[in-house]
Amino acid sequence: KALNLIRNFSIIAHIDHGKSTLADRLIQRTGGLTEREMTRGQVLDNMEIEQERGITIKAQTVRLKWKAADGETYELNLMDTPGHVDFAYEVSRSLAACEGALLVVDAAQGVEAQTLANVYQSIEHDHEIVPVINKIDLPAAEPEKVREEIEEIIGLDASDAVMASAKSGIGIDEVLQAIVDKIPPPKGDPAAPLKAMLVDSWYDPYLGVVVLVRVMDGVLKKGAQIKFMQAGTTHLVDRVGCHTPKIEQLDELGPGEIGFITAQIKEISEARVGDTITDAKKPAAQALPGFKEVQPVVFCGLFPTDAADFEKLRDSLYKLRLNDASFSFEMETSAALGFGFRCGFLGLLHLEIIQERLTREYDLDLITTAPSVVYKIALSKSKTEDAKTIELHNPADMPDPNRIVTIDEPWIEATIYVPDEYLGAVLKLCQDRRGIQKNLTYVGHGSSTRAQVTYELPLNEVVFDFYDRLKSLSKGYASFDYHQIGTREGDLVKMSILVNEEPVDALSMIVHRGNAETRGRGMVERLKELIPRHMFKIPIQAAIGGKVIARETLSALRKDVTAKCYGGDATRKRKLLEKQKKGKAKMREYGSVSIPQEAFIAALRMG
Ligand code: GDP
Ligand code: MG
Repeated sequence: KALNLIRNFSIIAHIDHGKSTLADRLIQRTGGLTEREMTRGQVLDNMEIEQERGITIKAQTVRLKWKAADGETYELNLMDTPGHVDFAYEVSRSLAACEGALLVVDAAQGVEAQTLANVYQSIEHDHEIVPVINKIDLPAAEPEKVREEIEEIIGLDASDAVMASAKSGIGIDEVLQAIVDKIPPPKGDPAAPLKAMLVDSWYDPYLGVVVLVRVMDGVLKKGAQIKFMQAGTTHLVDRVGCHTPKIEQLDELGPGEIGFITAQIKEISEARVGDTITDAKKPAAQALPGFKEVQPVVFCGLFPTDAADFEKLRDSLYKLRLNDASFSFEMETSAALGFGFRCGFLGLLHLEIIQERLTREYDLDLITTAPSVVYKIALSKSKTEDAKTIELHNPADMPDPNRIVTIDEPWIEATIYVPDEYLGAVLKLCQDRRGIQKNLTYVGHGSSTRAQVTYELPLNEVVFDFYDRLKSLSKGYASFDYHQIGTREGDLVKMSILVNEEPVDALSMIVHRGNAETRGRGMVERLKELIPRHMFKIPIQAAIGGKVIARETLSALRKDVTAKCYGGDATRKRKLLEKQKKGKAKMREYGSVSIPQEAFIAALRMG
């Protein structure tokens, strides 16, 4: 295909502004799927979880054919991307494979935190950005105000922004024409040695390892011997194709094109995202720059409820990692939970999604330990060791407090957009989480005025439930984005939880000394609700070192009063007890106390 007839673009937006719906319409309009085949909305969100939660997790790529006003038929490669802050990594990879982006902004909501974050990323990749004001069908739509916001907040010329409704199919042809007119065609030399970027790879149960590529130079042909420059492995290309979104087999991919290949790749670690693919016989002299390595910021332990599932868990983690290079894992053992894995994530939603996929797609029962960020701990000299600095990913590994000189924790800078009426509640939340206010300004005019607040916050205070709290106290109107700004020393301590005098490793966490008592109290109170009564009295305690800072006692279950002794929390407990009966294996024994698996996760949700 001639380069000037190709356009590669991504769709970027704040979550829920309509990226996936717009992608649906573009696919439908260009004939990729007929109305009848369009059996459900957001066709590119093909994972079960994506459908249920209505969010996009994996970036998807589709090839569209469009006959433009000039009579030429163009090949448009569309990459739909996730909008949530935890999946920014997916966005950045897709952007690197494109020359432009459609910036979708909700006509009723206006510019939000992730709109801005994604636009900045797009600008970093030198993209041509085409603004699309979506949802103009809504009664609350204020497209002109949003146009002004795009110019005022983002600094982008929005005078010819496309007015669209992805839902009602308004402005779709205009969007397609704008892609052809405004986004530059890719560059590349078909005669040069093959150079292609490995954008993504995933495991398909039928095809095996599938690799998404963007060809920069040369031609990637079926039957060719290719080399992954970073991994150093060679493979025979057995399939070349693209998604329309149906799978279409091709003979080759030329410069500027995006498509997939399979190459009998067995070892998933060979298909590293960011690697450069070249011709094994006539290799390129230099590899492409590759992608920025992302560092997981939140860690937790994942343990199989049934120890016999350990191998299955390992296998599933390997497969998931192929789909998601931003997640890491290594083996871990715990006295109470046995063999499992310490896993790293980009955020709490990312953690939840992985955990849910393991449960559903791989049919595993798991116990998740308290999420933790990475701390830097300076240790003094001991009898056997010199002074040194360690990285702590797991509160259970907290070194001897007598040796700790300082503990540094990661900090972030958060940008929050919120309508004025919820500003007070947002400021209080940030303050409660040890936030330092850096800036407060207003954007927009009249009824659409919103506050833009910038805070510095310890990441530790954000990972548990900050996002959930922010959403609930602003009735869903606040939007949030953050980036890391380095580490700072903090007055931090390890808080242990003891059930019947036994420490429960999975529930220990690192907290700020000033918040320890509140956290500890909340935790023991919740656990009291969550642990079913036993035939004996059970003390539940939170402690720092040897000092108990909060305590509750779960009274004993007396045989004669079983039926009457339930308090106000009866239903919840009864449910737990019923579950307990169903699956004895799902309970964990601490000393002689059984803790239902649900209690671990529920206890970690801050009140
Ligand atoms: P994404 O998170 O950006 O991919 O957003 P989705 O495409 O999943 O859309 C979020 C919600 O907005 C869904 O409920 C869509 O049905 C709805 N939506 C998308 N486009 C429009 C539109 O043009 N008009 C209206 N009224 N709703 C829309
Ligand atoms: Mg989506």
